Amino acid sequence: MNQQPLLSAVNLHKTYRRSAEKVQVLRGLDLEVHEGEFLSVIGSSGSGKSTMLHLMCTLDKPDDGAIYLEGRRIDNLPAAERDQLRNRTFGFIFQFYHLLPELNALENVLMPQMIMHSAWSWWKAKGKLRKEAAQLLERVGLGHRLKHRPKELSGGEMQRAAIARALVNRPRVLLADEPTGNLDSQTGKQIVEILRDLNRREGLTIVMVTHNLEISHATDRVVKLVEGRVEAAVSDPFADNSQAVIRAASVA
Ligand code: ADP
Ligand code: MG
Repeated sequence: MNQQPLLSAVNLHKTYRRSAEKVQVLRGLDLEVHEGEFLSVIGSSGSGKSTMLHLMCTLDKPDDGAIYLEGRRIDNLPAAERDQLRNRTFGFIFQFYHLLPELNALENVLMPQMIMHSAWSWWKAKGKLRKEAAQLLERVGLGHRLKHRPKELSGGEMQRAAIARALVNRPRVLLADEPTGNLDSQTGKQIVEILRDLNRREGLTIVMVTHNLEISHATDRVVKLVEGRVEAAVSDPFADNSQAVIRAASVA
């Protein structure tokens, strides 16, 4: 497949320094994400999965290497442009949801819209935006909990609200950092089914980090991080040979 990737990471290096201690996390990581695919990234704890996601959405900068969105370099853009990318182009969901506790589900979903609008344009568009946010919550199965605050919701319900919030500005790419890591296996499966469905029906491109191999099997392609790089794909239909490459990699 020689179509230009939607998002690509090229030769990423990242080292964290804390006083005299150096932690070399990424050591020449390359990854291409194609439009419309649902990709999962596995790897042991501390292997750099979260670091990689943060670099890909410009939340943090690589020491070396670059990130491209449709061929345009984005990691070195000015802060205001990177802020805008994170608000509009990327959606992010986290293991611990990161909902604002004092806001209800609907208000949490509206938050990225409030940030994007001026006070006046927010006031004018409020009714329409609230309706769209409620529709998104319905889309993820939380239409009956619009007015509940996070502490009145279960883990699975909080993650549904967080997914709706990540989608409210219609991102091109959804990045999910262990979205099922804090959920029981049945609830985790339901969350992945929502993502699978968003990908199939709406063509949403998704990169999901997980260390649950069973969860990763629901996705189109699985890559593994080992020693700061992407190891040969565990399953990769985008590989040069036309057949899906399924390597009997030992997956921890
Ligand atoms: P993963 O998500 O695969 O568990 P991370 O990307 O969170 O791994 O972290 C990779 C390594 O980098 C870990 O050893 C972690 O302790 C270290 N690390 C992550 N963030 C920082 C930071 N801000 N400062 C120092 N070390 C960090
Ligand atoms: Mg992590």
